[in-house]
Amino acid sequence: MLIDSHAHLDSERYAADREAMLIRARQAGVGLVLSIGIGEGPAEMHQALGLCREFNGRPGLPRLYASAGIYPHNTTQADDGALAKLDALLAEPEVIACGEIGLDYYHEGAPHNVQRTGLIRQLEIAAARKRPILIHCRGTNESTDAWDDVFLVLEEYRKRTGLGGIMHCFGGGWEQARRSLDLGFLVSFAGNLTYPKAQPLRDVAARMPLDGILVETDAPWLAPAPRRGQRNEPAMVVETAQVLAGVLSVTPDEIASATTTNFFRLFPSSKTWETDRGTPGGSPQIV
Ligand SMILES: [Zn+2]
Repeated sequence: MLIDSHAHLDSERYAADREAMLIRARQAGVGLVLSIGIGEGPAEMHQALGLCREFNGRPGLPRLYASAGIYPHNTTQADDGALAKLDALLAEPEVIACGEIGLDYYHEGAPHNVQRTGLIRQLEIAAARKRPILIHCRGTNESTDAWDDVFLVLEEYRKRTGLGGIMHCFGGGWEQARRSLDLGFLVSFAGNLTYPKAQPLRDVAARMPLDGILVETDAPWLAPAPRRGQRNEPAMVVETAQVLAGVLSVTPDEIASATTTNFFRLFPSSKTWETDRGTPGGSPQIV
């Protein structure tokens, strides 16, 4: 079984075939998908939870969990009302993570100081709800500026709370990967790992310990190499896992087993349904 640790299932690009898309994922061996709850802004943060409630329990689908968070460029909308909504969502048993949150200095958008304040306020809420965080981090071109700022915040946060998280769609260098591992964070690889020009990223992945990795699609974006530019979907996480297996010189089964174990270690509550019900995609068992 594989876990897609990051997919935007609430994207309107799935409006016409969302259930069929999820069935394809299950048939490809994907047993669980973490559905990211950022929407197009805080007003849509609840949509991922809505999908858990809509689809969990239907036969032949992966089990769905959700996150909720305010994306870096939407932090201009992180007012008291939006943060109260985030707090309420993180109280729900299906909403196991806070994210994706972080810093994005690559694209023009929210000012950097607004992003940092938004990140810190969301970390407070995640800590109070004991929810691991999903970090989006992208620097200005080749610079590590956003990473340097994110580590300043996270190293302090880790010391204070002991809480971990995931570096989603990892695109940093070895220094950033090593610091993430030192923080106890998991490093998640997406379809960009498969792109011809991504040899530097594959070189970083080749140095990763098996107990520090996850795979994800970031669907509907970042379809793996043969289908780059097309709509991505959770079934295609299999291709990223295959490339990662090659890079690490292990079998695809070993990648599946390691990434699943790592996910359940970070989110123990998401394992309960599997052990209670035996088969992924079975009836939900929420604790
Ligand atoms: Zn994402």
